[in-house]
Amino acid sequence: LVPVVYCITPTYSRAVQKAELTRLANTFRQVPRFHWLVVEDSGQKTALVGALLAGCGVAHTHLNVATPRRFKRAGQPRATEQRNEGLKWLRRNRAASRDRGVVFFADDDNTYSLELFHEIRSVRQVGVWPVGLVGGRRYERPLVERGRVVGWYTGWRPDRPFATDMAGFAVNLEVLLLNPKAMFKRRGSQPGMQESDFLKQITTMEELEPKADNCTKVLVWHTRTEKANLVNESRDKQEKIYIEV
Ligand code: UDP
Ligand code: MN
Repeated sequence: LVPVVYCITPTYSRAVQKAELTRLANTFRQVPRFHWLVVEDSGQKTALVGALLAGCGVAHTHLNVATPRRFKRAGQPRATEQRNEGLKWLRRNRAASRDRGVVFFADDDNTYSLELFHEIRSVRQVGVWPVGLVGGRRYERPLVERGRVVGWYTGWRPDRPFATDMAGFAVNLEVLLLNPKAMFKRRGSQPGMQESDFLKQITTMEELEPKADNCTKVLVWHTRTEKANLVNESRDKQEKIYIEV
């Protein structure tokens, strides 16, 4: 049996949320041996996300944890607690599993090609690949020489030990189980350093497995969704029903 691909998706309530999750489900539904861990940034699981997951046709687990108020500001990394909640679930619920697995962090607004999941599934320890539309460039990527990662093509903080976006790597479940304390950090971590801080705990640059044809193909894009324009919202007396959007 091929390994299961586990995707951890942090998500939060906003006007575009259902559209984002619908688009993601339409991609993930086409991926075999896939398990979606959806972690709401909320004190409670919402009915909107619950109903969407129930009908999405993708094997999933619905989790939630609220980001503490003090971390909900500009200059703070996003979704730290949610990604850690996904890791905690995997360690609790998949430690005894005989099935192999690979874990990937899939933000709800990015764009994922189906080819990416073939690459992810073959990751033995930690795999890396290019990410499109990120870091103020068309793409960032690991630089590869003779099949080994030797550095990073990036326009932003090239001093990062692992200069990759969250969408640019995946980790074998076994590596997460062998490093039970590896987590995303709030303390001492700056925005954009979460990936590096995390990867430092579980691997070295020499050990990284370059994917996507030696990191020469973009299979995932760090797209961002425009905030919905709701300037004409009003409590219209003519509208008698509530419609979930
Ligand atoms: N996110 C979250 N809570 C927040 C802000 C963001 O759970 O308060 C999630 C969001 O849904 C996404 C991930 O964290 O899956 C990254 O957020 P975003 O896409 O806004 O970050 P960026 O694109 O700037 O890296
Ligand atoms: Mn994003």
